This record gives sequence, C-alpha cells and structure tokens, in this order.
Amino acid sequence: MNQRRRRIYEGKAKILYEGPEPGTVVVHFKDDATAYNAEKKAVIEGKGVLNNRISEFIFERLNDLGLPTHFVKRLNMREQLVREVEIIPLEVIVRNIAAGSMAKRLGIEEGTALPRSIIEFCYKNDELGDPLIAEEHITAFGWASPQEIDDIMAMTIRINDFMSGMFAAIGIKLVDFKIEFGRQYEGDLVRTVLADEISPDSCRLWDMKTNEKMDKDRFRRDLGGLVEAYQEVARRLGILNENDHGKPAKPTLVKS
Ligand code: UDP
Repeated sequence: MNQRRRRIYEGKAKILYEGPEPGTVVVHFKDDATAYNAEKKAVIEGKGVLNNRISEFIFERLNDLGLPTHFVKRLNMREQLVREVEIIPLEVIVRNIAAGSMAKRLGIEEGTALPRSIIEFCYKNDELGDPLIAEEHITAFGWASPQEIDDIMAMTIRINDFMSGMFAAIGIKLVDFKIEFGRQYEGDLVRTVLADEISPDSCRLWDMKTNEKMDKDRFRRDLGGLVEAYQEVARRLGILNENDHGKPAKPTLVKS
C-alpha cells in the first residue's frame, strides 16, 4: 500500500503531495519549526501532529459556518486532504492586541489592547522577508483584484470574530494570527477560499489568566515547552484526551 506520491512542494513546516483525485492535494504537517524567515530552525517532535489536529478542528468549524475553505478532511495523524487552490501571495494578519512586529514597529507595549481589530497585509515572498504592504500595492501589482480584497476582508472579519469567541470560551486570548487565501477554480468560476493552516504556529495565544504564551513564540523566544503548550490548546479545545502527548505514535483521538 506504500504507493509513491508525487511531491508538489515542500515548505518550511509542510509538504504538499498530489491528492487521490484531480483538484485535491494532501498536506503533510512536519515537526520542523522555523522563525525569523528560517534563520532559526529546530525539529520539535509532536508539533506536526498537534497542528494537523488543531487546524482540522478550526477549519471544520469554519466550514460549518458556511465560510469557504480548502479543507476536506483529515486523513491521518499528520495529513489532511484539501482542495487544490492557487495561493494568493498575501499574508493576512489580524491583530487584537499589540505584539510582535507591530509592537516593535509602532513602539506600543506588547499586550496593549488595540482600539479595534486591525488587518494588515504582507507580500508573501521569503526572499524579501514578507514585507508589510498597503492595499494600493496589491491592486497596483495585480496580486489580488479589488473584489478578492473585499472577499478577503469580509471573511477575515468573520474568522476573527469566530476564533476570538472560540478561544475566549476556553480561557485563551487570541492576540493575533496570520491566514492565507487561495483561488479555487470550478469550471469557469473562481472563488476565494481560506487556505493554508490555522494553528499555534500561526496565531499568538495567551492564557487569559496568566498571559502565558501558548504559541510559536515559545520557540521564537526560547521559552521551551512548545509541545506542552500546543497540547494544552488541543486539550482545552476538547481534541486530545488528558493522557495524550502529541508524540507521533500515541495520541488517541476523542472523535474521528
Ligand atoms: N505569522 C505567521 N507567519 C509569518 C509571519 C507572522 O504565522 O510568516 C503570524 C505570527 O505567528 C503572529 C502574527 O502572524 O501570530 C503576527 O506576526 P508578526 O507580524 O508580529 O511577526 P513576528 O513577530 O511573528 O515576526
């Protein structure tokens, strides 16, 4: 049964394989962690399994809300089946609380609640270090159409509202997160769908009571305990049993 699959692309934390049917792709979540545009690297055993499961959980909830996503189903501990899309070369960042690059850029103390949620765009280009851009750049250079930007903004606001509530209900503050969108071609039609992943690798998540970081900043800032923090996020979401630890061989799923 160990059929060879065609590898389409290997990124920093994921590998994409050709899917079983045309128009599908298999996403494989690796244990590799990178930060600062891959200047800092490590392998963190169990991270891929947890991100696969957490991202599945969030994408399923968003699909249930009628928000179009690329997600079809989880295949196994490390892989999920998604619809093939053409990735729009933008990183869409939503911020509810100042942190990371924005806190630095604008001299705002990390942890300051923002007067309202702020959506930023970065141009997805590793060589340039994903620079912050304005809507003007996106339309002038044709990275996305004005209609696509409208769709992205509307979906992003819904995603932020949903996720902020979902995390608040389990005692976690959604500080900020990054999402990506793709173009899904259906005959002559193209629709904008949420793609990529949503996991503690792409969100800042702080414990509501202690402000403890439960996200990739544990790796970026050498705080340790990354897998334990991701497990705690999964546990509070009701995904893992108390005894699960996210290591490849063991986690037992509560529901299939
Ligand atoms: N982020 C991401 N991938 C990137 C850049 C940022 O997932 O290439 C996420 C990051 O985890 C955080 C949010 O986007 O939740 C905002 O990141 P920021 O711009 O503050 O950059 P950072 O401080 O992570 O370099």
